[in-house]
Amino acid sequence: METAGEGVTIFARPGATGWPCRVCGSWSERVHSRYLRRVSDEPVGGRPVTIVLTVRRFYCRNADCAAATFVEQAEGLSERYRRRSVPLLATLAQVGLALAGRAGARLAAQLGVKVNRTTLLRLVRALPEPELTEAPPVLGVDDFALRKGNVYGT
Ligand SMILES: [Zn+2]
Repeated sequence: METAGEGVTIFARPGATGWPCRVCGSWSERVHSRYLRRVSDEPVGGRPVTIVLTVRRFYCRNADCAAATFVEQAEGLSERYRRRSVPLLATLAQVGLALAGRAGARLAAQLGVKVNRTTLLRLVRALPEPELTEAPPVLGVDDFALRKGNVYGT
């Protein structure tokens, strides 16, 4: 682990000796190539954290499989095509739920995460629907006043 400037960088590599093919599930330990993937993680002490993952691409050993090669995944840390870790995404979704839009983006920045409000909204929309047994949302005072047709002075 190193601290460079304001951020913290952690270098990591998955510990498994091989990985199952994402198409056919065959286990392979035959490494095709390695590359680095950068994943933003939850901040530490207000500093942004970047995990630099060494990711391996394996040959699929199943001759009948459509995939010639496949990439291993770091379960619980990163999903395919994601630049942010799973725990960080969960935290940001909660920030977006509590404070939508710019206020949420500002809070995230205070926590050490750069995120725009559009991304926050997308994460909130991706959250599972609440159970139908929950109470309906309570209207805020402003909503109520607007619905009653009241207009307040500027
Ligand atoms: Zn395969």
